[in-house]
Amino acid sequence: MGLKPKFIYFDLDDTLLNHKQAERNALLDIHHHFDLFSNSSADRLVDIYQKVNSNQWSLYSQAKVSRKELQRNRFERTLQELGLDDSCYAEIGAQYMKFYRNHWQWIDGAEGVFQQLRDNYEVGILTNGFAETQKLKFERFDLYNQAKHLVISEEVGVMKPHPKVFEHATDITDYQPGEILYIGDSYHSDVIGGRDFGWNVAWFTANGDEDQKKKANFRFKHFDDLLKYIEV
Ligand SMILES: [Mg+2]
Repeated sequence: MGLKPKFIYFDLDDTLLNHKQAERNALLDIHHHFDLFSNSSADRLVDIYQKVNSNQWSLYSQAKVSRKELQRNRFERTLQELGLDDSCYAEIGAQYMKFYRNHWQWIDGAEGVFQQLRDNYEVGILTNGFAETQKLKFERFDLYNQAKHLVISEEVGVMKPHPKVFEHATDITDYQPGEILYIGDSYHSDVIGGRDFGWNVAWFTANGDEDQKKKANFRFKHFDDLLKYIEV
């Protein structure tokens, strides 16, 4: 017998949509587009950007930098670490967002399973990330028409795993925390955040360790496997 939740929330980036691949492809486009990078490798740009960006998001989630500072710092500091002229961070940042949008796509197998669950359950989206970017994704993937509730943490005012985000997302449904299932890829934001608020959590991960697995109700590596755990 699988779970039969009353409501299913999905995380967006790297759960339904392949953010990491889109980010990487956008950075490769950036590397190709600006002459500035002609003497440094594309892989080095990707590595350094990902390190800087992840650090900036962590500071942003602790309210130690603003969204504007994050958007500036992630490119300015990447250029500095590469030893390049950092004065064109704004132009590169704006171009990055344009390229990034060209590469959005579903995670393998996610679209069909999402639609099957949507046909059988009330579903929603609960995502961190910039509101304007996430709204463009909702439009592009027709999520406004498919999901009952779409929650962006920036609009709640704090980021996952903060309990206020989960509280808000629970309150707008008519259900109790234990009647909600969350499907997400981040151990810190999704598994810990959801479980601590009393939600059931399905952890989408290819390589979670056994010890951490215990925190989630179950773990799955491919979307086809998800349906083994949920009644449809
Ligand atoms: Mg995610």
